[in-house]
Amino acid sequence: MSLLSPALRFDFPALDQHVGGKPLVYLDNGATTQKPRSVIDALARFYERNNSNVHRGLHALSMRATDGFEAARARAAKFINAADSAEIVFTRGTTESVNLVAQSWGSANLRPGDIVLITEMEHHSNLVPWQQITRQTGATLKYVPVAGADAEHGLDLDALEKLLTPQVKLFAFTHLSNTLGILNDAARLCAKARAVGALTLIDAAQSIGHEPIDVQAIGCDFLAYSGHKMAGPTGIGVLYGKRALLDDMPPYQTGGGMISTVDWFESKWKPAPERFEAGTPNVADAIALHAAFDYLDGIGRPAISDHDHALAAQACTALSELPGIRILGPKTGKPRAGLVSFAFAAAHAHDIVTFADQDGIALRGGHHCNQPLMKKLGLPSTTRASFYVYNTPEEIAVLAASLRKILKFFA
Ligand code: PLP
Repeated sequence: MSLLSPALRFDFPALDQHVGGKPLVYLDNGATTQKPRSVIDALARFYERNNSNVHRGLHALSMRATDGFEAARARAAKFINAADSAEIVFTRGTTESVNLVAQSWGSANLRPGDIVLITEMEHHSNLVPWQQITRQTGATLKYVPVAGADAEHGLDLDALEKLLTPQVKLFAFTHLSNTLGILNDAARLCAKARAVGALTLIDAAQSIGHEPIDVQAIGCDFLAYSGHKMAGPTGIGVLYGKRALLDDMPPYQTGGGMISTVDWFESKWKPAPERFEAGTPNVADAIALHAAFDYLDGIGRPAISDHDHALAAQACTALSELPGIRILGPKTGKPRAGLVSFAFAAAHAHDIVTFADQDGIALRGGHHCNQPLMKKLGLPSTTRASFYVYNTPEEIAVLAASLRKILKFFA
């Protein structure tokens, strides 16, 4: 495992500031990442030069906007090795992508007796939409358990074998747990689901900007992610879906842009992806997301993955020396992706985050939208440090020193 050049920091204007009189140490990348200059410039350039609505205009600016929007879609397909850019639906982010599949595919396909299988490590975004659609359709929601602390909170694969029956119509799981730092073996999980005829949906919110992802090699049916967690802007995300599935699904929302014809009492839909993009889409942010794809591929996702994993391993080693710490997920020396969440008996996560902020350190504290998992683990909350391309070993030393000071205060 190796680290990226610290000079990458200079690509990110927001990092060049002090908080509480100290240089900013931004370790809240699991919530959202900072944006490189190229993404900020792409956004500004669109509004300064090309701003127009897409698909419905014949003038120069509208054509430029349409070309930019569709080029972003093609680039999004390439980023995850989708076979066809028609398999890319632009959404507001992971949450909307999952809701789209739950409401559209779910309402058309789920019946009483069917099972939707998810896991105990899901973010609420990949949990609540399945509660809703199973309740609406009479289908049943089941969970693959997270194994105990000895098993470092990985998925219980024996339980998964038993749960995967032919009644399971869809298995939806997170690629990278936002609380545990566990990177699930997506290809293996998809193969297991396929063996019983179940479709698969991957929540790639935490992995998309950090790990190489090839949807054809993984063999998933749907994959959801948010642009803002991969150096792109907020308000834009992607639902990848296999073309035959998307073309078979009813619209999620209706209105302009998604119809082929409208009569007084009847309308016909366009094929995917337009069928799922009712109304004026988020053109500017899609175009800025294109710049984020280019930026990350310019570094190389294997290199980013190595960097994040190396920092997380260093953080685990440094933090494990702190008195009374409980670190969730894989233990020191075991593979873990670029985030570490931890708890102390002596201090609540919100206090830790507030005090760390005074040292210029941005962390996240709380239930991380994993309330049922937190309950199972017997924790009200954890503190999470999450890493990205611009973070350095020196910042981990700053974090460890700050936490040591805070713990002394609460002792
Ligand atoms: N899934 C996971 C694993 C996440 O970490 C998050 C956000 O933190 C989401 C889904 C939801 O992403 P968004 O709020 O961008 O829709």
